[in-house]
Amino acid sequence: MSHIIHRNLRHAPPVAVSAEGMLVRDSRGSTYIDASGGAAVSSLGHAHPAVIEAMHRQIDTIAYAHTAFFTTEVAEELAARLVAGAPQGLSEVYFVSGGSEAMETAMKLARQYAVESGETQRSVFIARRQSYHGNTLGALAVGGNEWRRKPFAPLLMDVPRVAPCYEYRDRKPGQTQGDYTASLLQELEGAILDAGPENVIAFCAEPVVGATGGAIPPTPGYFRGVRAICDKYGVLLLADEVMCGMGRTGSMYSIEQDGVAPDIVTVAKGLGAGYQPIGAVLAQGWLVDRLRRGSGIFQHGHTYIGHPVAAAAALAVQKVIEQEDLLAAVRMRGASMMAMLHNAFGRNEHVGDIRGRGLLLALELVQDRETKQPFSPERRLHAAIKSQAMAHGLMVYPMGGTIDGQHGDHILLAPPFIATDAD
Ligand code: PLP
Repeated sequence: MSHIIHRNLRHAPPVAVSAEGMLVRDSRGSTYIDASGGAAVSSLGHAHPAVIEAMHRQIDTIAYAHTAFFTTEVAEELAARLVAGAPQGLSEVYFVSGGSEAMETAMKLARQYAVESGETQRSVFIARRQSYHGNTLGALAVGGNEWRRKPFAPLLMDVPRVAPCYEYRDRKPGQTQGDYTASLLQELEGAILDAGPENVIAFCAEPVVGATGGAIPPTPGYFRGVRAICDKYGVLLLADEVMCGMGRTGSMYSIEQDGVAPDIVTVAKGLGAGYQPIGAVLAQGWLVDRLRRGSGIFQHGHTYIGHPVAAAAALAVQKVIEQEDLLAAVRMRGASMMAMLHNAFGRNEHVGDIRGRGLLLALELVQDRETKQPFSPERRLHAAIKSQAMAHGLMVYPMGGTIDGQHGDHILLAPPFIATDAD
């Protein structure tokens, strides 16, 4: 009997006992192909020797040093490497233990920036209806997944939400892509004006929507438009790259492909690639300088920030991505996997859309391709798909059926960057 509060309180999952490369094995002897990297985490696959060796070396050197007393060489080196590969101006790094913590940190940093700028009235975050930013109370408040938010709604701050960039469902017949994009930007500007631009701290968005919606990339020009609106009203742009960052879409940060530098970026998942729990917030130099010249401290902190072994794992992951030219591999495999998905499912009556960027891909499932009618949430189709896939030795990451009644189920695919076409 298990004493763990598992995700499903009625069924304990299989016991994973070993993993290597693309494969995970359980205690009953079943083997699973990890086609989702867990939840878009295991970007190097399992048991990569270079990462494991780096962790061993770090444990032997110094396993822990509290950041109230020390910094460490490994954390400094990792920060320098992240900054070197980041969009312009993102020169400051704050380490955390995961994605939700990264979002909480980013939101507090943004708020403290407003406070130290003498704009204490700024208290509003604007976000998108179709979004997931984490499960802690602040991150849950900005996220748009109604099912996740519902039981906790009285504990969450009010967040005005605008439409996501979800062309498959929301672009009207006859509407050009440019007109559709313009309508989304107009809605964002309207939301800022409704809240009062002087009250808005930041606009939060995932450059490629991950868990709540399924690998939805933006339309061309969308983020350039968002950037311009944020600049016009002094609103910070907070890009949540927890799922889509760290090479997953073929560039280190997905929003690079949209030609935009955000004010704050959060990363996690692929940063430690599952070898250690680690996330990070990157911020513009001028933003942190405001605090540096002001109070001189960021009023935040956790016990495990900058954990040396986690930093060593993440640093090794970064080096492997570079040495093995994995960003190019992601672009190439992403294109071939997209072609394979179109071949296999392009005419399937229940596959409405096949989409994604790099190796963050998804199939959207519908009852009817013409009407795009989603399956009803009560069917819990995604749960059935997950267990069927596992019964066939495959890990995929299905979600859905639950948000605003607006869209249906999708299957997210996020295989390790080392996957071959044969895998
Ligand atoms: N932000 C995004 C875009 C995510 O996809 C997730 C997790 O799926 C999070 C934040 C939360 O990250 P974590 O589960 O590491 O707290």
